[in-house]
Amino acid sequence: MRFASIGSGSRGNATLISHKDTTLLVDCGFSARETEKRLQQLKFDANKLTAILVTHEHADHINGVRVLARKYKLPVYATAGTAGCLAEDVTELVSKFNCHEAFAVHDIEVQPFPVPHDAREPSQFVFHDGQHKLGLLTDVGSITPVIEEHLTACDALLLEANHDMDMLDQGEYPDHLKYRVAGRLGHLNNVQSAKLLEKIDTSRLQHIVAMHLSEKNNSPNIVSPLFAQALNCDQSWIAIAQQTLGFDWRELTNG
Ligand SMILES: [Zn+2]
Ligand SMILES: [Zn+2]
Repeated sequence: MRFASIGSGSRGNATLISHKDTTLLVDCGFSARETEKRLQQLKFDANKLTAILVTHEHADHINGVRVLARKYKLPVYATAGTAGCLAEDVTELVSKFNCHEAFAVHDIEVQPFPVPHDAREPSQFVFHDGQHKLGLLTDVGSITPVIEEHLTACDALLLEANHDMDMLDQGEYPDHLKYRVAGRLGHLNNVQSAKLLEKIDTSRLQHIVAMHLSEKNNSPNIVSPLFAQALNCDQSWIAIAQQTLGFDWRELTNG
């Protein structure tokens, strides 16, 4: 399995998960044109996409879904709650999934799981290629036993580190937004994510990427040492997904 991101953060998210001839685009928070441009930067042809998976209906995750899905005739996988928020003219392309049941999209098995976030029926995913397990977790206000159960023993982990609590507290966001972001249905702060890393089995990890960093309320300089401490590893090993270019292709290997 290999994976990449064309951007991560509150101004747009989209992650690529690829195995053999199957490539899934998880969320599409950029316009279709911007998505095509960013895919080209990763040397990936949009015609080779297999499907779009949607985690939830917030604009930074669905902005380009409608136009991209229609243009490339891509199936769109979403929970019933999320699907109900998508534009009517994509409904013929939508496959609804139960967020407690695994399903396959060609060569990739997808295990969704429900997460606490202020959307209709948000879910996040674990991907299997028969050998490796990749976990994706962003847009989550609090860690649940279900999340821990699904993300344990991953070979790669793409994990939200949205904000530093002090930066959010002292920052320029209006109070209602501070409460939303920090709340149980908001976004993970750095300490919550580091604690998750300490709790689950990370002995198989080949890649760790911090995702969905707030540009105003966080900094890679805070996330990297915190994650490195939680994983007892060198800081240089912690990757940080950018809003502008996400991160380049990474690959899971044997042995
Ligand atoms: Zn988001
Ligand atoms: Zn969200």
